Amino acid sequence: MEAQSVYILREAYREFSRLCMLWSIGKDSTVLLWLTRKAFFGEVPFPLVHIDTSFKIPEMIAYRDRLVRDWKLNLIYGENRAALDARRTFPAGALSRIACCKALKTDALVNTLSGAWPRYRFDHEQDRYVEDANTEPYTGVIVGARADEEGSRSKERYFSPRDHHSDWDIGDQPPELWNQFKTDFAPGTHVRIHPLLDWTELNIWEYIAAERIPVVPLYFDQGDGTRYRSLGCYPCTTPVESTASTVNDIVEELRTGKFSHVAERAGREQDKEGDGTLETLRREGYM
Ligand code: SF4
Repeated sequence: MEAQSVYILREAYREFSRLCMLWSIGKDSTVLLWLTRKAFFGEVPFPLVHIDTSFKIPEMIAYRDRLVRDWKLNLIYGENRAALDARRTFPAGALSRIACCKALKTDALVNTLSGAWPRYRFDHEQDRYVEDANTEPYTGVIVGARADEEGSRSKERYFSPRDHHSDWDIGDQPPELWNQFKTDFAPGTHVRIHPLLDWTELNIWEYIAAERIPVVPLYFDQGDGTRYRSLGCYPCTTPVESTASTVNDIVEELRTGKFSHVAERAGREQDKEGDGTLETLRREGYM
């Protein structure tokens, strides 16, 4: 699985001159970051993009900035500043969760990728974020989505096209036979690349254990008998009951089937609104 993911990462790097990787700071995209450093001999040869809703659990942002400094990462973040300033959000009571996710995640992502809204790059010399002068659009976007995580993600390809509006036409995707991938798409469109598509939640934790990958401590029980299984915004994310306090505890927990009847994203409240699926949001550009 590692070799296949590295192969896809290298294919993407070869084919896309304007390539970036989304980093949500969760376990999956952090494994993807680890695989990228393996694929390119310790380097990350493209920017990491983080969409900051400003409601992420604070430990996530602290972890992000620590790794950016320690690993000298080229991190860019984008946000929907207009919605935040106008308090047009779910936590402010102005929007439903679905509308808030569309504004703070989907719209922010689409406009950050296209370069239409400001991007903020971590300047290692100044040790702070500065507005990025480069506003060129990204045409290849690497994402840590896994098919087993949630229904709509299982419909993705390794190389999934998005149109001029970042919309996703699930019924019109190229076949991917014998490791042959379609990587040329029309100008103005972009491609989402999914090197982790075949990994399960257990595979991810086994790999984190084998490679000793640092992850956000929120995944572990801190003594109150709960831990986060999936990370997101604090007003919409609840922990699960679990006493797993190490990576090996989590691997053991998953192997014994403790959560076999509980969806991985069950603690993410926004998944339960609207028509009950994320597919509508994801068709419009949600990650
Ligand atoms: S997860 Fe909650 S706070 Fe975060 S963007 Fe969605 S609705 Fe808003």
